[in-house]
Parts: sequence; structure tokens; C-alpha cells
Amino acid sequence: MQKKIIIIGAGFGGLTSAKHLADSDFDITVIDKTNHHLFQPLLYQVATAALSPSDIAVPIRSLLSNYKNIKVILEEVVSIDKHNRAVQLKNSTLNYDYLIVAVGSRHSYFGNNDWEELAPGLKTLTDALVIREKIIEALELAEIENNIDLRRKYLTFVIVGGGPTGVELAGAIAEIAKETMIKDYKNFRPDDTKIILIEATDRILSSFDKKLSEQAKEDLEKMGVEVKLNTKVENISDEGVYTTQGFIPSKTIIWAAGNQASPLLKSLDAETDRAGRIIVNKDCSLPGNPEVFIIGDAAHFRDENGKVLPAVAQVAIQQGKFVTGIIKNEIQIEKRPVFKYKDKGTMATIGKAKAVAEIKGLKLTGLIAWLTWSFVHIFFLIGFRNRLRVMIEWIWYYLTKRHGTRLIVGK
Ligand SMILES: Cc1cc2nc3c(=O)[nH]c(=O)nc-3n(C[C@H](O)[C@H](O)[C@H](O)COP(=O)(O)OP(=O)(O)OC[C@H]3O[C@@H](n4cnc5c(N)ncnc54)[C@H](O)[C@@H]3O)c2cc1C
Repeated sequence: MQKKIIIIGAGFGGLTSAKHLADSDFDITVIDKTNHHLFQPLLYQVATAALSPSDIAVPIRSLLSNYKNIKVILEEVVSIDKHNRAVQLKNSTLNYDYLIVAVGSRHSYFGNNDWEELAPGLKTLTDALVIREKIIEALELAEIENNIDLRRKYLTFVIVGGGPTGVELAGAIAEIAKETMIKDYKNFRPDDTKIILIEATDRILSSFDKKLSEQAKEDLEKMGVEVKLNTKVENISDEGVYTTQGFIPSKTIIWAAGNQASPLLKSLDAETDRAGRIIVNKDCSLPGNPEVFIIGDAAHFRDENGKVLPAVAQVAIQQGKFVTGIIKNEIQIEKRPVFKYKDKGTMATIGKAKAVAEIKGLKLTGLIAWLTWSFVHIFFLIGFRNRLRVMIEWIWYYLTKRHGTRLIVGK
């Protein structure tokens, strides 16, 4: 009888695994709670109206439709029963011989979950659309507000967390609020808008070389972003953000500070790190259950130097491919190879023609880093139509400085 593989999650890790198992004799089921594979690195461009949702998301079913041995199920997995090798969906149970868990992560509010509604984070398409509407709505409210204090509050955008997502969002919001969209409003000027990036430690982009962090800070400041280092958020309310350096009145607060693993992982009843990620074996398997693999953002993997691998797409992709080699050859636990991560570099964009990149010891800034960033993102974006559309959108934006997708369609 054909052996069964279940893959939970069709993000970077799960989709890679599915594609690498497509030519095998296994019966594969891919389960995802959304119907699309999402290119998260460009989510901030949807949140800031530079791209449309369909530019960065592709239906999972269409990506896997050519493979006869792969079935796709749109459902949320509610728990995993590792003892009975079963995955529980809302109304049914599926059994597996091998399981790949690639469920990614969510943002963490460090125990202050009530902040989520006031300061949304950016992980899904829905998150991006909520943020997009918040930004455009704040500009609209400022346009009709004559009370100066209230207008100032509407025109103040606060981003919490100076990692790549926070930096990219701050730069993109500065571009729209100080340069591009501002032209369409009559009641305020570019100088009236404030973009504040709050970071708890003493530098932004702390995973990058120190010089690149400083360059990114300088670039952001030139674009009009106020970077507040060594500043911690103490509370968030309807009125604004309370920080260790004082209160900031704002209607638009965006959370980009910290990750936490999917609650589904708790049902595996295994050792986790503080972020809830499963501490996996060197072959990415679950300790005690060699038929279960945890990959990508859901896994805590320490490399040969004792460093925990970062939550980035390349780790998920490489682990996704690695575990399929073990499964296809049905390698017994004691003979399995050790996963080795090949770091292809990290980069973050700050704005038009501004980025920082660190590739195999090479440190790039400015236009060259931005061109590299643009090329890499277009190259890895899934789907030829999407690549073409994104390239056209970027060229259009570069020439006209106008964003196309500025509709408010929610409440
Ligand atoms: C805004 C943002 C920007 C980023 N920028 C970069 C970047 O520039 N470069 C980079 O390398 N990385 C970047 N990352 C990180 C990168 O996107 C992640 O590391 C990567 O997506 C992890 O892949 P994954 O397969 O582990 O999880 P994901 O890609 O998150 O996929 C998880 C999948 O699991 C599904 N799922 C979750 N729970 C369940 C469940 N219970 N049942 C069914 N399905 C479920 C989800 O719907 C999702 O499709 C960024 C992330 C974000 C949020």
C-alpha cells in the first residue's frame, strides 16, 4: 500500500517539500488553512498600497494541480496525535506514515494580547489589508480634521520593532506620507506627518553588521523617520503608545516586534523554546518520533556553531528540501544526515533606491543593494504572471511615484 505523507502548511517550507516529493510513490496530502501560498517578504508593499494581494499570493491548488500524487485540503489542523500518527481537522481525522509540520509563526505581543487590535502585526494578507486601510483612513481623517492636536494624532504613524519588517514598513510609510500620496491631500503638508520607529535595543536591524544598521538608520532619518532606540513600549491605547521615553499620540500603530510559534505545536507535547518553537533533532525530526519533521519558522534548530537558525524563508526552503531526501529514501534515524544551512545572505530595503544587504561577507548599501534586493525578490516570487506584474508596478512607481492600490474596501 502507498505510504501517506501529510504536510501541514504550504508556505515556503511546506510547498518546497510538496514539490520535491511530487515524483515519489507516496500519497501526499497538503493541508493549509488559507487557499494561497504567500510571499511574505513583499507583504509590507501590500500594506502600503504598492502591490495588490494577488501580486504576492498564488492559490496552492493551482501550484500543485499538475502532480497526480498530491491532494490539497483547505482546512485548519486543530491538533496532532503523534501516538496514533493522526492529524485532527475540524470534522475529520487523517492518518500519516510521515508528517511534515511547516506551520510558520505569528507575531508575539509578549503577553499583552489586547494590544493586537490596536496595533496589528503583519503576517497574513488580511493583516496587510487591515494595515493598508488604517493608513489610508488616518490620512482621510486628517484631511477633514480642523483640530490641530487631533490632526497631528492622525498624521503620526508609529511602528514598533526595528527588525527588517519594521524598517521596511517605516521607509514605505515615509514615502507615501511625505512624498507620494500626500499630493492628493489639501489640508496638510509633508512636514505635518510623523513616522516614528521604536526599537527596544540600541540599534535597528540587529541581525546585520553594525555599520549597515547605522546606514539604515541614517537613510530612514533622511526620509523623515524618527528612530527611537532604547525605547520600550509600556502600553498601547486608543490614544497612542506609552513608552519608556514618553507618550506618543497616534491613531496608526503597527506591531513588528517578535514572533511566536503556532499554538498547534503544543499538541505535539515536545520541548519548545521561549517562542514556542519545537526544539528539533539535527535531522529536523521531532525527538522520539522520527516520522515527524518540523521545519521553518516552527522549528528551533541549532547549527554546528550552536547558533539558532533565523526565521527566514531560506531556512524553511532548505529544510523543506532536506527532509524529503530522508523520507524518499526512508532513512532510519541512526543513519540520517545532519541538516546544514547555507546562508545566502540577508537584506532589507529602506525605500526607493535604498537598501542594505550582507551577502557572504560582502556588505552593500544604497542603489546597488536595492537593485540586488529587487532582483532577488522578483526571482523568488512564485509565478511568471506575478513577477511580470510586480516588475511593471515597480517601474511604474519608480517613474511616476504613484501607488495604484489605495482602495478602502473594509468597514
Ligand atoms: C512581513 C514579513 C517579511 C518577511 N521578509 C522576509 C525576507 O525579506 N526574507 C526572508 O528570508 N524572510 C522573510 N520573512 C520570513 C519568512 O517569510 C518566513 O521565515 C517564512 O515564511 C517561513 O516559512 P514557513 O514555511 O516556516 O512558514 P510560512 O511561510 O509562514 O507558512 C506557514 C503556512 O502554514 C499555514 N498554517 C499555519 N497554521 C496552520 C494550521 N493549524 N493548519 C493549516 N495550515 C496552517 C499558514 O496558512 C501558512 O500558509 C518575512 C516574514 C514576514 C512576516
